[in-house]
Amino acid sequence: MKMNLNKKFLISFISIILISLLITGITSTYMIDKRFNLYLLKQHEEKIATIKSMIDSAIIKSPMKPDFEGEGLTKYALSENYIIKVFDFNNNLIYTTEVHTPMMGQRRRMMGHRGNMMGPMMGRMFRNMFESYNEDNYTINYGNKEIGRAIIGYFGIHNISREAMSFKLTLYGSILISSLIAIIVSALISIMISRQLGIPIKAITKASKAIGEGDLSIRTNIKTNIEELSDLSSSINGLATTLQEQESLRNRLTSDMAHEIRTPLTTIKSHIEAFIDGIWEPNPERLKDCYDEVDRLHSLVKNLEDINKFKETNYILNKSTFRVDDELARIVNSIIPQFNKKSLKLELDNGAEIEAFMDRDKFKQIIYNLLSNAFKYSYEKGIVKINSYIERESLCISVQDFGIGISKDDMPHIFEHLYRGDASRNRATGGSGIGLTITKTLVEVHGGTIKVKSNVNSGTVFTIILPLEKIQRG
Ligand code: ADP
Repeated sequence: MKMNLNKKFLISFISIILISLLITGITSTYMIDKRFNLYLLKQHEEKIATIKSMIDSAIIKSPMKPDFEGEGLTKYALSENYIIKVFDFNNNLIYTTEVHTPMMGQRRRMMGHRGNMMGPMMGRMFRNMFESYNEDNYTINYGNKEIGRAIIGYFGIHNISREAMSFKLTLYGSILISSLIAIIVSALISIMISRQLGIPIKAITKASKAIGEGDLSIRTNIKTNIEELSDLSSSINGLATTLQEQESLRNRLTSDMAHEIRTPLTTIKSHIEAFIDGIWEPNPERLKDCYDEVDRLHSLVKNLEDINKFKETNYILNKSTFRVDDELARIVNSIIPQFNKKSLKLELDNGAEIEAFMDRDKFKQIIYNLLSNAFKYSYEKGIVKINSYIERESLCISVQDFGIGISKDDMPHIFEHLYRGDASRNRATGGSGIGLTITKTLVEVHGGTIKVKSNVNSGTVFTIILPLEKIQRG
C-alpha cells in the first residue's frame, strides 16, 4: 500500500513511541507493584502486631477486667480503621470497637465475611481484597492458658490501600500524561521531519517529471540542509543542463548535417537537371564535379560510421616501448611536406628524452590530430610549435598555433562528437568534428588529460599531460 511521507512518518513515530511506552509502562508498573505491595504488607503486619501487643498488655495488667480502651486500643483501631472484637473463654463479647464505628459495622456486613487470610496469601490477595472485609483471628493466652480470642477485622488493607491507590493512580496518571505529551511531541517532530523531507522531494519530483515531459529549462531551487537531498537536487539540475546541452548539440548537429548534405545535393541536382534539359553536355569535367560532390557525401557518411567503429575499437591498446622524442621527430618529418604547402613553419622543441610504454599508433594519431588541426586553423605563412617536456612527474606535449583561435561559445563543445566551430564550418576546412573527440579518448585511455587554451585570432595551445607512472613500465 502506498502512503505519503507525512503519514508514513507519523505512523512510524507513533508506533515507536507507543511500543516504548508500553514496554516502560509494563515494566515500571510491575516493578512498582511488586515493591509497593511488599511495603504495604509489612506495614499491615506491623499494625496487626501492635494491636495484638496492646491486647496482651491490657490482659497482663488486668486479666479479669482488662482495660482495652485505657491501653489506647480503641483510639489506635479507629485511627487505623480496624474493627476489633474480644471474646472471653466462654465466647462472650467483652470488648468491641464497633460501638464507636456503627458505619463500619454496617459496611462490614454489606461486604461479607472473608475469614482469616493472614500470612503470605495476603500479598497475592491484595488486589482482590481491596475494600473487601477480612478478619484475622488471635488467640489470647495468659501464662500458658488460653483465656479468650480476638478478631481483628479490616477492609482490605483499606486505609493503606487508599494511599497506595492514590499514589499508584498519581503514578499511572503521570505515566499517562507523559505518554500523551510524548505522542503529541513525536507527532509534531514527525510532521516537521516529513515536511523537511517532503517539500524538497516534491520539488525534485516535479522537476524530474517536467524534464521527462521535455521542459529542460526547469531547475529545482530547493533550500535544504540534508546532504543527500541537496546532492539529489544538484544531480537533477545537472541532468537537466546536460540534456539541454545535448538537445542543442543535436539541433546543431541536425542543421549542420542538413547544411553539409544540401550543398553537394544541390550541385548534383542542378547538374543533372541541366543534362536532362540539354542545357549542358555531360562532359568529363562536369561529371567530375558531380563525382566530387558524391565523394563528399560518401566521406560524410563514412565519418558517421567511423564514430561508431571508433567507439568499439579504441580501448584495445597494443602497448610497446619507444622513445618519445624520436617518435615526435619522425612525426614532424613526415608532416613537414604538408605544412610547406601552406608555407607553415613547424618547430619542434623536444625536451622529453624518455621512453614510454604506450600504444605507438595511438600516440601517433593523437599528435597527428593535433598537428592537423593546427594546420587547418593556422593562417598561411604562420608557425606551429610542438614542445615536449617533463613536468610534475608527467610527460607534457603541447601543440601551439597562431591561427584563428576558438571562440568562448565553441570552447565547451570542441571535444564533443561531430562538433565543429562556426569558424571551422565557414572556412570549409574539410573537418568532420570528430578529431578532438578521438584525441581526447585516446589520451584518456592512456591515463592522461588534455587541456586547451585559446584566443580568437591569436591562436590555440593544446597540451596533453600523461602521468609517467601511467605510461612507463614498472
Ligand atoms: P574538425 O574536424 O572540425 O577540426 P575537431 O574535433 O578536430 O573537428 O575539432 C572540433 C572543433 O574545434 C573544430 O571544428 C574547430 O572549431 C575547433 N578547433 C580544433 N582545433 C583548433 C585549432 N587548433 N584552432 C582553432 N579551432 C580549433
